[in-house]
Amino acid sequence: MSKTLSTDVVIIGAGIAGLWLHHRLNKMGVHALLLENKAIGNAQTLSAQGIIHGGAKYALNGILSKATQAIGDMPARWQACLAGHGDIDLSSVKVLANHQLMWSKGQLSSKMLSFFASKALASRMQPVPDPERPDIFQSHGFKGSLYQLDEPVLDIPSVLKSIATPYQDRILYANPEKALSWQQNGQHINSLNIGDITIEAQQFVLTAGEGNEGLLNSLNIKKPAMQRRPLQMVLCKSKDPSQSLPTLYAHSLGSGSKPIATITSHQNKSGNIVWYIGGNIAENGVGKSLATLAEEARTLLTEILPWATLPELEWAAHAVERAEPKQSALSRPDSAFVESKGNVHIAWPTKLALAPDLVDKAIKKLQKQGLVKHQHNEQALLAPAPFGDPLWDSAFQ
Ligand SMILES: Cc1cc2nc3c(=O)[nH]c(=O)nc-3n(C[C@H](O)[C@H](O)[C@H](O)COP(=O)(O)OP(=O)(O)OC[C@H]3O[C@@H](n4cnc5c(N)ncnc54)[C@H](O)[C@@H]3O)c2cc1C
Repeated sequence: MSKTLSTDVVIIGAGIAGLWLHHRLNKMGVHALLLENKAIGNAQTLSAQGIIHGGAKYALNGILSKATQAIGDMPARWQACLAGHGDIDLSSVKVLANHQLMWSKGQLSSKMLSFFASKALASRMQPVPDPERPDIFQSHGFKGSLYQLDEPVLDIPSVLKSIATPYQDRILYANPEKALSWQQNGQHINSLNIGDITIEAQQFVLTAGEGNEGLLNSLNIKKPAMQRRPLQMVLCKSKDPSQSLPTLYAHSLGSGSKPIATITSHQNKSGNIVWYIGGNIAENGVGKSLATLAEEARTLLTEILPWATLPELEWAAHAVERAEPKQSALSRPDSAFVESKGNVHIAWPTKLALAPDLVDKAIKKLQKQGLVKHQHNEQALLAPAPFGDPLWDSAFQ
């Protein structure tokens, strides 16, 4: 039996970037195979809070930066998909919240209030009238400001299912124990070998997140280089599932230019609500023990939600690296990144919300290289890639 597969495009890495590109290409009639060496969504994507950012959190210093502009169109792109008429039909995705909130414990400065009311931001965020506030902000103890952003929060496992399912037979498991090597002619890559299986393609796209580094090394490509920005996220849930935490999808504002904390809420298998907490605590929490992080998080919640009575909590931590194109001073990149080296394209979305933008850029690069649609036989030489597990269950084990 032949151990050679042929396809138009090989994509490596089934996080949000690889999945979105794979779906779009196959929908266009291009034959694309997606290879995953662990599980679908396994790395950063299943670690994401699921916020479809519109950029408001990058404008807290009163400036609409490049990052804010690049990401500004993304909520509308995703909303079209959620309504079933965008690039990808995401109408079966579970929407956790239609809006992300932003609250301050005390009144905002007049400078910040007029910036939020400015033409540039007013269409993206509005103050929430008192009767429409979620329960946790109904208390008389809450004296601050509450804004609603045009940023939905999505259940990521259901996003992965929706994008992967239509072309799932072309998402294959590339066992990491089998050696990966390339057959190339100068800068042109002819095929990829995984163990004794050869995959021939016109073009190759690397969407392996942190794994792009090893793949670039295997291809002897020095630039673009990758940077890692580590985080240790905090998770908590009520010890007594009958007194679950309330749902909250919100950034807590202080006086600085970044939110103090970002909290999203996710239901675990047994129906208990898990708060997933990012922001400064996760940036500064790298390398800390669970006991230290839990203590800091307990103090933080008392500071930012002083009026709220929370149940007795159980804690977990989740260490993860953000993988991105290298920037000076380890800063956050502004937009989705795709760079081509011959017929290899290297991609990092830098935000889950930017996947549609990344894929527009990647398709342009593939077409520039002269992408041609061919008929290919489907052969089951590799097993299908499994789906990764939601964090809300695995983190507490
Ligand atoms: C804690 C956290 C919270 C976040 N929250 C948000 C948010 O709310 N909103 C937002 O917009 N963004 C968020 N982000 C950013 C977002 O998650 C990432 O930008 C995005 O998921 C990156 O997707 P990716 O497909 O590039 O990479 P990944 O999701 O990392 O996927 C890469 C895939 O490639 C696979 N792989 C690696 N090496 C190989 C190989 N050699 N062969 C085959 N497969 C390989 C991996 O197993 C993995 O499945 C968050 C990030 C973190 C870390």
